[in-house]
Amino acid sequence: MKYSQLLIPTIKEVPANAEIPSHQLMLRAGLMRKVASGTYIYLPLGFRCLQKAINIVRQEMNKTGAQEILMPSVQPIELWQKSGRDVDYGETMARFTDRHGRENVLSPTAEEVVTSLAANELKSYKQLPFNLYQISFKFRDEFRPRFGVLRSREFMMKDAYSFHADDESLDVTYKAMYDAYCRIFKRCGLEYVIVQAESGEMGGSGSDQFTIPCENGEDVIVYIKDSPLAWNIEKAPVDALEKQKAIKNPPKPEEVHTPKVGTIEAVCEFLKTKPKDMIKTLIYSCEDQIIIALLRGDHDANPEKITQLLGGKANDLADEATIAKLTGAAVGFAGPVGLMEKADHVLIDLSVAAMAIGITGANKTDYHIKNVVPGRDFKLEGDNIQVADIRNAIDGDTYQGKKLLFKRGIEVGQVFKLGRKYSSKIGAKFLDENGKEQIATMGCYGIGINRIIASAIEAGNDKDGIIFPISIAPFEVIITQAGKDDDIKDAAKKLHDDLETAGIEVLLDDRKERPGVKFKDADLIGIPIRATIGKRSLAEGNVEIKLRAESDSKNVSIEKASEEIQTIVNSLKEKLNI
Ligand code: ATP
Ligand code: MG
Repeated sequence: MKYSQLLIPTIKEVPANAEIPSHQLMLRAGLMRKVASGTYIYLPLGFRCLQKAINIVRQEMNKTGAQEILMPSVQPIELWQKSGRDVDYGETMARFTDRHGRENVLSPTAEEVVTSLAANELKSYKQLPFNLYQISFKFRDEFRPRFGVLRSREFMMKDAYSFHADDESLDVTYKAMYDAYCRIFKRCGLEYVIVQAESGEMGGSGSDQFTIPCENGEDVIVYIKDSPLAWNIEKAPVDALEKQKAIKNPPKPEEVHTPKVGTIEAVCEFLKTKPKDMIKTLIYSCEDQIIIALLRGDHDANPEKITQLLGGKANDLADEATIAKLTGAAVGFAGPVGLMEKADHVLIDLSVAAMAIGITGANKTDYHIKNVVPGRDFKLEGDNIQVADIRNAIDGDTYQGKKLLFKRGIEVGQVFKLGRKYSSKIGAKFLDENGKEQIATMGCYGIGINRIIASAIEAGNDKDGIIFPISIAPFEVIITQAGKDDDIKDAAKKLHDDLETAGIEVLLDDRKERPGVKFKDADLIGIPIRATIGKRSLAEGNVEIKLRAESDSKNVSIEKASEEIQTIVNSLKEKLNI
């Protein structure tokens, strides 16, 4: 293919509003253009990358026996009402009313639709198991689209859904998907880490996430050195902290005036104390119930752990009015003393129960209470009280005595054991061997195709541009025609044609530009192999070959160039099992 015939609008400057390398480089290399917040056009090069990732995903899915289908983007709200996710998905799910007054959603995922398919088609255990997948655009009205295609509103997802007669059969497919994901990400040239994850609003019993470690990732990976144990922070367990030594004759609680200091930091500065000596009180409202969570001042609540404890109910922090009504004080001054009785549930973090003494809000605007002793001044036991792990792990925490370590990552895929959550609500049933009606067991498996491209760029770039793994690069080879003479053009064209005939994806930079401009663009786009044909090398009968990932180049005779390039392409591909 000729560069002069493709739309490759490269940009020299770093675009404004693009904060991270993958976003900047996808714009600069002319892979994509923004249409509106969180929506993008994939230009010819970007679309080639996307197609290559899709092909790898499709090959590996087919190998497992999964069957490709295509489901509609516009789905009736009634299906989502059956599962209850019309509520759970909240504003992330885009909805519209059609001309007949029917309410629809733009598919953020497709459990409901595929389960209704199974409800209609599934009759007998003999049809099970099966695994259906699609590769299609999904729409999520993300609160904060950012980082280019990493968190966009419209994105390409591979989503698969498996149906089973029992849990053992689900385990087999789950493992097959897990293994397929390992192969997919390896073949896409990504160094991935698998972490245990919470199943979130998906529901279900088990989930693993495939993450690409990188500084700009939105997820936090918690792991233990030299151990296979790793978690998304939402799931990471922590050892209970040692109980602090009880203070002999602890002083009585004492109200202190803390005018206008409603944050932990401000209170600490004002009272000359440390966050770890504070007890913070969070108030959630959930399905008309009030939940109070107590945490140490230096800890953050873990919404997933709390959701699990509440039996899967979504939890939202209560609004100002609810807090004011409950505590009689402004936000920032809530405390457990005298408040716990008013709550439907109280969740006390293990580390609060381990404190000897602390400072809390006084349920009175501009006041805190000093010398609060857990167990003496507020209860640690009771019908509505649960002491549990409800916080995020932090630096210094351990699990099973081993230090927890942290790094950031991008979630590129996730697999879930769904169990019967959707099949029971939507009625996906079958008759078992004994003619008895049973509810199907399900798994679901997602991959963000856009995130494959963006995370490969996040992991592979330098000051000059992208360094693509060959498997998802828009082209495998770029030939830089460095000069206007006919013999240069002819030699470049011949090499291009030879490589193309040999099945190599090759781009011929035939533009009327200076060699320097062409080299810069080739580096920016990140095509793995560059072959340069210029006046001097040609006079010596040579072609210069350079790998994008390496700094040295080598000269190869023009007769051997095609063969040599094919050998390099093959060896790069072999490394990735392509
Ligand atoms: P996140 O936690 O990042 O919001 P998620 O867990 O909600 O993602 P899933 O429902 O598991 O996402 O979707 C499957 C895959 O789709 C994810 O693993 C991710 O790679 C991709 N994905 C999800 N949301 C987006 C988005 N807004 N933009 C791009 N890709 C996304
Ligand atoms: Mg996920």
